[in-house]
Formats: sequence, structure tokens, C-alpha cells
Amino acid sequence: MKFSLLALATLAITALANNSGGGGSGGGAPSSGGYCPDCKIQGVNNVTTKFLKGNCKWAHKTDKKDPNFLINLSKGQNPPLLWIGCSDSRVPETVITNSRPGDIFVHRNIANMVPLTDDNSLAVLDYAVLHVGVSDVVVVGHTKCGGATAAYNAVHPPATPAEPVTDDPSVESHLTSWLAPLIALTKALPGNATIEDVVEHNVAAQVDNVVQSPIVQNAWKQGKDVRVHGWVYDLETGLLHDLGLTRTKADCTD
Ligand SMILES: [Zn+2]
Repeated sequence: MKFSLLALATLAITALANNSGGGGSGGGAPSSGGYCPDCKIQGVNNVTTKFLKGNCKWAHKTDKKDPNFLINLSKGQNPPLLWIGCSDSRVPETVITNSRPGDIFVHRNIANMVPLTDDNSLAVLDYAVLHVGVSDVVVVGHTKCGGATAAYNAVHPPATPAEPVTDDPSVESHLTSWLAPLIALTKALPGNATIEDVVEHNVAAQVDNVVQSPIVQNAWKQGKDVRVHGWVYDLETGLLHDLGLTRTKADCTD
């Protein structure tokens, strides 16, 4: 049997939807005593042991606090928000917004970017907006962003440049290529712009990309009331700031 590309994509999306919701057969309901109560689990080294034990404790505590939470969550998801953030370990969206699993659909990459040529971020945007049905999309930059700093330093080389991590440029070609639009954005800013200016202008540029994407334009054309926002997280205060960039279906240009 031959499948068209569209049919294959539909099959894949259906499988993804069933996997993320749809109530499959389930792997056994968590119940009190279903987890290792003493979390004696061992990883293959200290790092993996730390995180596996942490998971064990979390699962046990979560199940004890609300025995229905995990099993209900396994039946489907209905998050209202898509978070497009930076991969930085200091900006864990669920923790810093006091949220729970199931609350936020997430895409994170270096410097929270949504290039209109990037299948990865656009596939997440597509799935979140047109399939999961989030009502709000937020691009979240953060202070002291390594990606923004790298772009800034490429335009304003520091007096003592960092030692290269490798003498083979091809090793870092993906990172170099990924940062190219951010470097171009930085070059276009006034000469006295700071790294935090780069962070804010980058959020604005990515909000524009989300809005201009065929996905959001199509959602708006369908009458979906999807809103797009731009925030910056301050690492030192732990607070999110709304940059006032919110766009709504009134901005539909398609
Ligand atoms: Zn960052």
C-alpha cells in the first residue's frame, strides 16, 4: 500500500495525538506504594542516580498528595499556553511559573528563537496551536542569556576573547549557524546597545516570526483567538516581565 506524504503526516499526527492524550491502555495506574518509598534506585553514576532518585521521590510525593493526578494526566492534555523559551537550565518554565505537569506545552532552544526556516520550532508551534489548541503563545527571553551574549560578543569582541573550545570550526557549525540571525539582529542595533537590549529585541523579533508564521496566520483566519506575547525573565529577581508586545487575531495580515 502506498501512502502519500500527507497521509503519512496525518498518521504521524494521529499517533502523536493518541500518545499525548486519547487514553491509551496505560501502563498501570500509580497508586500508594506503587513507587519505591525509600527511593533506593541507583543510576549508572552519581549524576544519573541523583536525578533518578529525585524522580522517584517526586512521583511518590505527587501520588501521595493526589492519587488521581498522574493517572488523570495520562489520559490527555489541554494546556492553555505554549512557552517558547531558552534552553538555559536556570529558566525552567514549570518551576518559575508555579505550574504543574500538563499546564504548559514547551519548546526551548538556544536563545528562544523561532526562525521561519526551522522545522523544529515550527512543528511545535503547529502542533500546539492547531492540534493541542493552546490559546496563548509566549516567547520568553531572559537576562544574562548565553546565546545573546555570544551574539553580542561576535559584534563587539571582548578585550580578552574566550579560548576556542575546539580548533575545528566544523564541530561548532550548528551553533554558529543557529546564532547567525541573532548576530544579524545585534549588528542592526545601535552601537551602545547592551546584551539586555539584544535579549529584548530578540524576543520582539521572535514574536514577529510567530505572528508571521503560516500557522498563526491560518489559526487567526480560522477565527481561533490565539494571542502571542513577549516576556523576559530576570534571573536575579526570579520575576517575569511582560514587554507589552501582545498580538491578537486583529493583527491577522493573511
Ligand atoms: Zn538563554
